[in-house]
Amino acid sequence: MEVRKIVEALEKGATLLGEHCENCGAPLLKKDNEVFCVYCERKEEKKDEKEEITLEEILNETAQHLMGVLRREKDPEKIYKILLSLEKLLDMMERLRKS
Ligand SMILES: [Zn+2]
Repeated sequence: MEVRKIVEALEKGATLLGEHCENCGAPLLKKDNEVFCVYCERKEEKKDEKEEITLEEILNETAQHLMGVLRREKDPEKIYKILLSLEKLLDMMERLRKS
């Protein structure tokens, strides 16, 4: 195993993931939101575990993202829009729970 390749990738800004390549067992790296193995030089397809993602999960993630944005936002107009979106999201989540 050539550690040098990993080091090179890290120097280029990749980050080391706690996961390993299914093919060769080397640690997987991540850069620009892409997960890859430096040895196989193929992009590791994120496993299909997320294939059955539910609408509720998506809403949850979006709500979390919006809350993060909200925390940093200073512009009242944008804050208002975010709050409206959050309200809509929570509304939908509520409805999903009841259905
Ligand atoms: Zn590999």
